[in-house]
Amino acid sequence: MITLNMIKLNGNQIIGNSEQPGNEAVIKSTNPLTGQQLDPGYKGANKAQVNEACLLAKNAFDTYRNTSLKIRAEFLEEIANEIENLGDQLTKKFIEESGLPEGRAKGETGRTVGQLRMFANHIKNGFATNATIDTALLDRKPSARTDHRLTNIPLGPIVVFGASNFPLAFSVAGGDTASALAAGCPVIVKGHSAHLGTSELVGKAIISAIKKCGMPNGTFSLLFGSGSIVGQELVSNKEIKGIGFTGSRKGGLAILKTAQSRKEPIPVYAEMSSINPVFLLPSAFENIQSIVDGFINSLTMGAGQFCTNPGLLVFIENNESQKLIKSLSDVIVKTNTQTMLTENIYNSYCAGLSRLEKNKKIKLLAKSNSSTEPNQCQAALFETTGKNFLSDTDLAEEVFGASSLIVKCETEYEMEEIAKSIEGQLTGSLHLNKDQDEKLAKRIISQLELKVGRIIFNQFPTGVEVCNAMVHGGVYPATSDSRSTSVGSTAINRFLRPICYQNFPQTYLRDEIKDHNPNNITQLLNGEYKSST
Ligand code: NAP
Repeated sequence: MITLNMIKLNGNQIIGNSEQPGNEAVIKSTNPLTGQQLDPGYKGANKAQVNEACLLAKNAFDTYRNTSLKIRAEFLEEIANEIENLGDQLTKKFIEESGLPEGRAKGETGRTVGQLRMFANHIKNGFATNATIDTALLDRKPSARTDHRLTNIPLGPIVVFGASNFPLAFSVAGGDTASALAAGCPVIVKGHSAHLGTSELVGKAIISAIKKCGMPNGTFSLLFGSGSIVGQELVSNKEIKGIGFTGSRKGGLAILKTAQSRKEPIPVYAEMSSINPVFLLPSAFENIQSIVDGFINSLTMGAGQFCTNPGLLVFIENNESQKLIKSLSDVIVKTNTQTMLTENIYNSYCAGLSRLEKNKKIKLLAKSNSSTEPNQCQAALFETTGKNFLSDTDLAEEVFGASSLIVKCETEYEMEEIAKSIEGQLTGSLHLNKDQDEKLAKRIISQLELKVGRIIFNQFPTGVEVCNAMVHGGVYPATSDSRSTSVGSTAINRFLRPICYQNFPQTYLRDEIKDHNPNNITQLLNGEYKSST
């Protein structure tokens, strides 16, 4: 879409509905393709600005949380429209700051606005309220029951840390922001320093929607600056009641520590590291070519910078396994390098490869050619044995990028032990002919159930569908709270809490738990779902 009204980027903080220059150190995004620093510079927010954004959010909360589900849904839809209206200007900025191709920019814009519309629909239908009514049983013996009604209410102002690897879909108006706003929580985003201009454009689109829909000033703020300063101040601020984060384990744990040592500890929903194991059962070797195609595509897509990138391929050695290893290696060697998102991510990828290359328990099978251009990811494939893998926890550490480790097991028992030994993961995949290997498959599935948020049958882990049934979560360190998901409509539950109203007259109740059910939503009435008509 052509941009009708170009937006001037000025590098300011967005604090409620107004803009203010920061006065801390200047940060600039860098074009990862060229290494060129991009204007404008963004001066970091100072402490007073952090406090102002938090206070505005607190004040906005009282009005915003009481908006009707319909009005809040319209607001989310308006944010989606405003983001679409950014048109080519957003696409160009996204490409310039991320080095990702136009198709990805457009795909991610579609996913971002799709998520906002999904949450709009989800709250309109009242699903997130979990409206539950147990009416009075005055004749119950031995004691009467009074009327009890449960609904979900928002937590309060939420801080969202935009992720580097999805400059739109997991950033300023990404899944965390969309689900928190849908829940009725004001949001303050700590913009990721890798895509400052993209963040400012989206931040301005949200403010425009706030003004058009008459939402209170402070419903949204966007602050720039260093995570260890601005980010930490936000997490410590007493007005903040919850955190959404996607990034490194180190960053996530630092935030968790601060949140838990506050006078009032608050929940942190951090999505951190995952190596997403793929198990090839013996019957999967019937179709080696489709395994090679699917695995390489999943491994190298977006230079491997996906949280669900398959970093581990496990199978039991057999007559065909050398053929598989050779085919995978041949493709990796011919794979073109790809630009990584930031110099930091590139450096940490190179450090990860070098750590693996130095480990005597591992053999480098293949690496794509090098390039003299900046920040180029060379895809890499390593191999080790099941015994070595089980004896060295370093081998299971995430290398964020297009690198994967093949683990050759000797027995089914060893494969199962690997499934048992791995840390928590976002996903676990298994491949087999569905009529064979049933017993082994069920044992692997049973182990994966204890670790992962999503188990995948005969497919590969990248490509996370945004839908009601999605779980993008998993046991630590995949996330800091395995009861949650950061993708899909149930992501909203992270920012809600249940409350029970006992013996309340109808006029004092929230709409979703009133007898006459004005929004016609589904209620659980005395143990039976009463569908909306
Ligand atoms: P990151 O370093 O964890 O940063 C994410 C956000 O958290 C940034 O806004 C950052 O601020 C902030 N932050 C970092 N440390 C903090 C602290 N101590 N206190 C408060 N805020 C803090 O992640 P990244 O920049 O996206 O990528 C770095 C590495 O993370 C990658 O190389 C990769 O290993 C991993 N990663 C993993 C995933 C995954 O899904 N598994 C996704 C993305 C990245 P600044 O602006 O100051 O940096």
